[in-house]
Amino acid sequence: MSKTNVLVTGATGRTGSIVLQKLRQFPDEFAAIGYGRFEDKIKELFGSTEGFIIGNIADQSTLKMALKGCNLLVILTSSVPKMKAPPKEGERPEFEFEPGGMPEEVDWIGQKNQIDLAKEAGIKHIVLVGSMGGTNPNHPLNKLGNGNVLIWKRKAEEYLIQSGVDYTIIRAGGLINEPGGKRELIVGKNDTFLENPPKGISTVIPREDVAELVVQALRETTAKNKAFDVISKPENDPEAVITQDFSALFDQTTGGL
Ligand code: NAP
Repeated sequence: MSKTNVLVTGATGRTGSIVLQKLRQFPDEFAAIGYGRFEDKIKELFGSTEGFIIGNIADQSTLKMALKGCNLLVILTSSVPKMKAPPKEGERPEFEFEPGGMPEEVDWIGQKNQIDLAKEAGIKHIVLVGSMGGTNPNHPLNKLGNGNVLIWKRKAEEYLIQSGVDYTIIRAGGLINEPGGKRELIVGKNDTFLENPPKGISTVIPREDVAELVVQALRETTAKNKAFDVISKPENDPEAVITQDFSALFDQTTGGL
């Protein structure tokens, strides 16, 4: 079997780093390259910068170089709001984004750059991890740092769908740092889980499960040209059937926003 070259952006992020580790467990199947901004952080997480391209997603020439020879792209970059200062008693915390790190710059222009250059490089399939909540312009996350984060993320999703490149858009519920492979995952569409949460289920999913979904989306043809919301049933739910057949899970979903 010939190896598939995969570029993972946001590979020093909390989910992106798990995706990279998982792909590297299958060296006969994938040659996985990470894309990250900071040498120190890459070394801290992976021991060395081997198998990494150091760059910002705003830097088109480095991105272009990173995508050269790749077959697949995983987009796991995201703007990250930071608390300005600990709130005073009785006050709500205020958030801001670092310079160059506004959602419009990272989640829209930065993702658009990746999609455009991937298309130019002949990438066959792009897997993008996004967030639930994008159908509601008044979602509280949009207020953080006046960033409209979910609006820009949704715009990038739409752009990917229109790009003509095969896509899988995974819109995760609230991410938690719990072990993966222990839950039943459930897929939906258009924020119905937020509007009508299934009884007894909070709308969360472990980062490890999202990372596994990314890896399986690269493998399973049923994941192509699908966009879906995903949450998980609680661990140890007696009625849950731990998700193992990812092809069948992707089959339950549809394409388009
Ligand atoms: P994360 O840890 O915040 O990682 C974001 C990554 O993006 C980091 O690796 C960061 O780089 C990278 N990045 C940001 N700006 C960049 C730039 N200009 N150039 C290059 N890289 C850049 O991500 P996460 O919490 O695992 O979330 C993964 C995805 O799930 C995100 O799209 C997020 O919005 C979505 N999601 C999150 C939640 C939640 O509850 N947090 C819920 C639903 C969906 P550095 O490592 O250098 O900082």
